[in-house]
Amino acid sequence: MQTVIEQERGRFDQQRRRTYQIAGSLGVLMVAIDIVKQSLDHTQPLVVRLVYIVNDLFLIAISLFVVWLVTTRRGKLTTVERLMFIVFAAESLLFNGIVPPLLGQTLALRWEQTVNDDIWFLFMICTLGFHLFRHRASVLIVTSLYGLSVIILGGQILFSMPHEPLEPGLRSLQVYGMGAIFLCFIYIVSRYRAQTQRLQIEYELMEEWAFVDMLTGLANRRRCEQVLQEATARYQRYGEPFTICLWDIDHFKQINDTYGHEGGDQILRQMARLARTMIRSTDFVGRWGGEEFFLLLPCTHLAEAEQLADRLRHRIMEHIGLSDHVVSASFGVAEYHPSDDQTSLLARADSALYEAKSTGRNRVVGAELSPSFG
Ligand code: GH3
Ligand code: MG
Ligand code: MG
Repeated sequence: MQTVIEQERGRFDQQRRRTYQIAGSLGVLMVAIDIVKQSLDHTQPLVVRLVYIVNDLFLIAISLFVVWLVTTRRGKLTTVERLMFIVFAAESLLFNGIVPPLLGQTLALRWEQTVNDDIWFLFMICTLGFHLFRHRASVLIVTSLYGLSVIILGGQILFSMPHEPLEPGLRSLQVYGMGAIFLCFIYIVSRYRAQTQRLQIEYELMEEWAFVDMLTGLANRRRCEQVLQEATARYQRYGEPFTICLWDIDHFKQINDTYGHEGGDQILRQMARLARTMIRSTDFVGRWGGEEFFLLLPCTHLAEAEQLADRLRHRIMEHIGLSDHVVSASFGVAEYHPSDDQTSLLARADSALYEAKSTGRNRVVGAELSPSFG
């Protein structure tokens, strides 16, 4: 599950990087157009145009820097995003809000700049803010930024009241008002998406845990039965052979009695680790219950499975134990036969295991078909 989440996060990171590359490059282009516009606009005093051009050059430098950071994967993506947020928020408040009126921007010009770029730039920063900060913090930060922008605009309208027609200023305010509604929707949608994703992850986790044995991390009995059912269906559909093996630790009670329940648990975990290392990727191993384990070997006949079980039996004696206590196990192996169903196959494996126990333990017994099965 961890890897699923990591993969998902990796994909999301990749999408963000690509978005910033595209948005950053487009941003550079838009600002470059603004520089050309400023240079050709002789209605503005030279000093005003220079201030805007210097600011535009700064914006280009920042955008190129961000594109370089996300392309070369330098620094954490969220750090780059926070840096972007702070720089762009300050830029928006200063150069789209406070500075222009000080340089003599009229309300008519303000209206033009609002719809040309100011409001879009502000939307972009606010959307980034929703993504970057946690629930309450994001609302607080975005509302403060948006609120300040509106207050600055209100101030500009108030100060220009006696000398200029108010209408373009009010139109700008109207756009900011609609923008606030638009941002509420963006917020709701982003929250809804985040919540749906969280629920999906929780559901997948629960589903996965429902099939995992918590002590050993192996598949649990339910999952074993499911896998057995799938193998049976494949046999019936494609005639794909398979063999199962049940094995049970010998005198496990003694281990518990000698080393305590924790000692017994340790042996069970050792067994799970060993079994995992011994099987092929297509094989399946699970904990059947207590100190009994289940193995399903697809495309494997009885003789081959008995050999594997015997190798496992040897490895158990070599590798599993506590201090000098040697652990052994008994195995019952059964191959699926056309006359079998899941119950009869399990019953045959179980009686083979019983035979291994009753004939001295620490051995592998293959289940023969009774003569009546042909
Ligand atoms: P045999 O060789 O005939 O299999 O003898 P045994 O002692 O292994 O078999 P028995 O069925 O009598 O005992 C199994 C013991 O396994 C009893 C139970 O308390 C213990 N056991 C079952 N589940 C767990 C577990 O999760 N942890 C531990 N520590 N012990 C468990
Ligand atoms: Mg036992
Ligand atoms: Mg048992």
